[in-house]
Amino acid sequence: MRSIVIGGGVAGLAAAVQLAADGSTVLLIESKDTLGGRVRMRDSGNWLLDPGLHLMRRKGPLNQLLRKLRAPRVLGSRWNHREMLAIDADAGQALTVLATMSMDAEGVKVPEFVIPRGGWSSLVGRLIVSANQLDVMFDVGSSVEELVLGQDGRLASVRVSGNDIECDEVVLAIPPSESARLLESAGLDASELRRCTEQRSAALDVALEGKPMRPYSGLFDAKSGIIAVDVTAEDRIPEGADSSACTILHAVSLAGDGSEALQGIKEFLDSRCSGWRNMAAARRSTTSIMLHPCSRGERVDGSAFIGSGIAMAGCHVISEYHLSDAAVDTGRGAAKALKLSR
Ligand SMILES: Cc1cc2nc3c(=O)[nH]c(=O)nc-3n(C[C@H](O)[C@H](O)[C@H](O)COP(=O)(O)OP(=O)(O)OC[C@H]3O[C@@H](n4cnc5c(N)ncnc54)[C@H](O)[C@@H]3O)c2cc1C
Repeated sequence: MRSIVIGGGVAGLAAAVQLAADGSTVLLIESKDTLGGRVRMRDSGNWLLDPGLHLMRRKGPLNQLLRKLRAPRVLGSRWNHREMLAIDADAGQALTVLATMSMDAEGVKVPEFVIPRGGWSSLVGRLIVSANQLDVMFDVGSSVEELVLGQDGRLASVRVSGNDIECDEVVLAIPPSESARLLESAGLDASELRRCTEQRSAALDVALEGKPMRPYSGLFDAKSGIIAVDVTAEDRIPEGADSSACTILHAVSLAGDGSEALQGIKEFLDSRCSGWRNMAAARRSTTSIMLHPCSRGERVDGSAFIGSGIAMAGCHVISEYHLSDAAVDTGRGAAKALKLSR
């Protein structure tokens, strides 16, 4: 089988690894210059500051996949969820919000988290290494323009930079609006995807020479919708620095994006982590990053176009999981659904 995966985030990498493990010839196409998806490492001097994923569920699909790929060094230490301070909420709610990064999530089983060793980039790097070992080919920096169906209504090729690449099946591991555009280019009805409403957030990552969050490992304030977690780990701090005297702090405004939301995070930290501004050794902030591609009720069936040889993956696809776990679950699910449909 000649399979194409469009999108090089966690969902696309998981799909590519699964398809290749099942014997397909796989080409992964990513429009940006680097793989890894919406969460990218940025240079923060000697500190390891990731602007996205910080915690993963100890028994979730991402961790399971990494174990399967024999990547134990990526798994990292446990995060202490018992020391999370919930403000105007109870501890269970705070952990549900942390597990889903959403204020309107239903209760989830209280998860145990780990801090990925080496941060997001080492985790994505491990998926890329596995994909390479399985002979997945990469076309990075190319955007897919069109899906082309044959007379039989099944996928015949994808058009990339004016060239048609013949294939038998495709996984769309890209946000709903992009998936809709490509499906419509093939004359398919993507109205359900068009109804998805993105949720964007402001986020702040800061390396602190001090422990202003003590005695807590995390803070959640239900009124402002701000969540802040201490994700300090030995491998995230510069050589020679003492992890017991530093903090890697990640804070997100779940209430929305924009400069006001970022300012809200800073003011919240002023009130709860006194002196943090004077301790900051490195900072990364974003006023707007996509946190969820849709609300939970808007998630779509990833197999809706399976008859045409097209499967969908990402957090807008129905899954019992959330965040990167949903990306991995739906990525592998898309590959398995295509295999079953052959
Ligand atoms: C602030 C923040 C904090 C988070 N914290 C956590 C956390 O603690 N734990 C956790 O598990 N998750 C967390 N997440 C969520 C996690 O980062 C995402 O769920 C995950 O990265 C989604 O991966 P994806 O592959 O589905 O999508 P994406 O990462 O969006 O990947 C899609 C890829 O497709 C590419 N693309 C788009 N259009 C095209 C096209 N036409 N052709 C080719 N390529 C295309 C894009 O460039 C992108 O690389 C967080 C996210 C944010 C923003």
